[in-house]
Formats: sequence, structure tokens, C-alpha cells
Amino acid sequence: MLTHAEYVDHLLHNFAPPLLPSFLPMFRVTRQIDFCYGHRLLNYDGKCKYLHGHNGRAIITLEGEKLDERGMVLDFTDIKRVVSHWIDTNLDHRMLLHREDPLVSVLLEHGEPLYLMDENPTAENIAKLIYDITEKSGFPILECHLWETPELETHLADRHLAREVGSRRRG
Ligand SMILES: [Zn+2]
Repeated sequence: MLTHAEYVDHLLHNFAPPLLPSFLPMFRVTRQIDFCYGHRLLNYDGKCKYLHGHNGRAIITLEGEKLDERGMVLDFTDIKRVVSHWIDTNLDHRMLLHREDPLVSVLLEHGEPLYLMDENPTAENIAKLIYDITEKSGFPILECHLWETPELETHLADRHLAREVGSRRRG
């Protein structure tokens, strides 16, 4: 059995950067963003092949090695200004559809607000989308959880190790 110090030493000698920072002390902050969306899944045999909607909840965790001069990993208002605003503008009260969905042209003709995706708009792909937008906006995102219903959670973590995606059902 290794002591903690020996384990850290083992890691330091056996893993090259950029894996190292994941074993150093980190500060984390989490923000919850609620939004409503509709979708349907292509090539899927089940209720989700029909148009339906969700009260979704995205939970974004950011991580930093040190605090800024304000004593924060990041000001929540910065996340609100950028990520919450992006979700409000692009996903909230919109139909999220695969861009090849035959309903796209019909719904556009009727002025329905859509967000088109290159992939099926599953909870996993929506979590990935929010993760990627947060990362591209320059935030040190650690993971994104998406609750599609109060029972079904999908998460995506991608910071230090290989991208990991998973879902679990509560209850
Ligand atoms: Zn659904």
C-alpha cells in the first residue's frame, strides 16, 4: 500500500504533463442553468421519435488551479453573461432538431424557432454542445451534466482524461 506522498511521486514519475495538473489541488464552482426545449430523435424506435419537450437543467462545473485577485475561480456573472445568455438565445424555448430532420423545412415555414444539430439531439449531444460552447468561450470547464427530466441525467467530462460520457437514471 502506497502512502499518499508515494502515490503522488509515482504519478509524477510515470505520467507526463498535461495529465499532472489533474492531481494538484483545484477549486471548483458549479452553475445551474434551467431552460425549456423540444426535440425528437431520428432513427429511434420509441416515444422520443415524436416531437416532445423537456424542462432541462444544465449543471456546469468549472475548475481552476488558483483563485484570481477577487478570490474566485471565476465570477458567476461572467458565466451568466456568456453561457446562460447563449443557452437563452439558442436553446431556450426552441425545437432542437437534427438538420436532416424532414420536419425542419415545415417548421421553418411556420416560423418556429429551431436549433439545428449535426447529430441527433439526444441528451448526450445536448450536454456535449453546452460543454463545447462553454469551453470555446474560454471557461475552464470540467464537466457538464444535463438533466433532461428529474430522473434522467447525462454527463460529459473531458478535462483531464479521455472524453467520458454517461447517463444514469435516478429511481
Ligand atoms: Zn426527450
